[in-house]
Amino acid sequence: RETTKARAKAPAPQKRRVHLTHPDRLYWPGEGVTKEGLADYYAEVWHHIAPWVTGRPLALLRCPNGITGQKFFQKHAWKGLNPNIALIQDPKAPKDEPLISINDLDGLMGLVQSAALEIHPWGSTVADWERPDMIVMDLDPGEDVVWPAVIDAAEEVRRRLEDHGIASFVKTSGGKGLHVVAPLVPQAEWSAVKAFTKAMAEAMAADSPDRYVATISKAKRHGKILIDYLRNQRGATAVAAYSTRARPGAAVSAPLRWDELDASIGSAWFTVQNMPTRLATLTNDPWDGFRAAAVPLETPRKGRKKPG
Ligand code: ATP
Ligand code: MN
Ligand code: MN
Repeated sequence: RETTKARAKAPAPQKRRVHLTHPDRLYWPGEGVTKEGLADYYAEVWHHIAPWVTGRPLALLRCPNGITGQKFFQKHAWKGLNPNIALIQDPKAPKDEPLISINDLDGLMGLVQSAALEIHPWGSTVADWERPDMIVMDLDPGEDVVWPAVIDAAEEVRRRLEDHGIASFVKTSGGKGLHVVAPLVPQAEWSAVKAFTKAMAEAMAADSPDRYVATISKAKRHGKILIDYLRNQRGATAVAAYSTRARPGAAVSAPLRWDELDASIGSAWFTVQNMPTRLATLTNDPWDGFRAAAVPLETPRKGRKKPG
């Protein structure tokens, strides 16, 4: 437990109101993290994770028997849905099964109760389904790619976004790679955001064909990083900042300050177990100022600057 001093600036962890069945069920057996341990983690990080998981359509990776059991990637509501989880209807698919969303900590606890061990939101909100409020560039290192090369790729994405007047933030995926996330004023629609990110991924691959590929079919090539821009299309998802991963190690997707990116922090360094301590010792969230930095995506213009 953190000291009172370290807690002084941070809001107190939230009290849980949602009933958990089988609180001792082991979700990450290797680390001894139970369902109740997961609930405690999310209560501790609630103020940090809330903007990324509330008010958005969510896909969930559900693992009723923990990470060693069967896993279900679910985009739609199911029978017996926890009452704290909201049903939402995609306005473009009025006849489909409803989608899933949450609005508050009770909703997040409903996800814990439902064994959702990964939370994957859309890049747009239910207030404006068609206009994403963020870009996610997902950097997927192939085999034999060293970590510093992944960091270089993230910094190149950051520079290229900056050339367009777009600020960006970096997080570990909690798996193998990094995600560069940029706040947008929701103005451009999905098709424009996808075209913009596709052009960026292709430009990186064209400029450094030995380092980057922009298409999944070429991504099997060893030694290269896939610049996966396909998180930026309608209905696509990426794991939320602070979400846990259903993988051994109980890692979480961890927002970092750019100056923290170095060889000592790998993608799975931050976990359910050390993230609450990290946050308690920081004055601000590493992504403080994210929303304030949002700009609208400009329509394409001629003569894009080369990155410096
Ligand atoms: P890593 O750093 O290991 O690549 P990642 O979260 O970026 O971790 P990816 O495989 O690059 O993993 O991304 C897959 C994305 O595709 C997920 O973020 C998820 O939102 C989405 N997705 C679509 N279908 C699935 C599925 N069946 N299982 C898991 N993710 C899926
Ligand atoms: Mn990835
Ligand atoms: Mn990917």
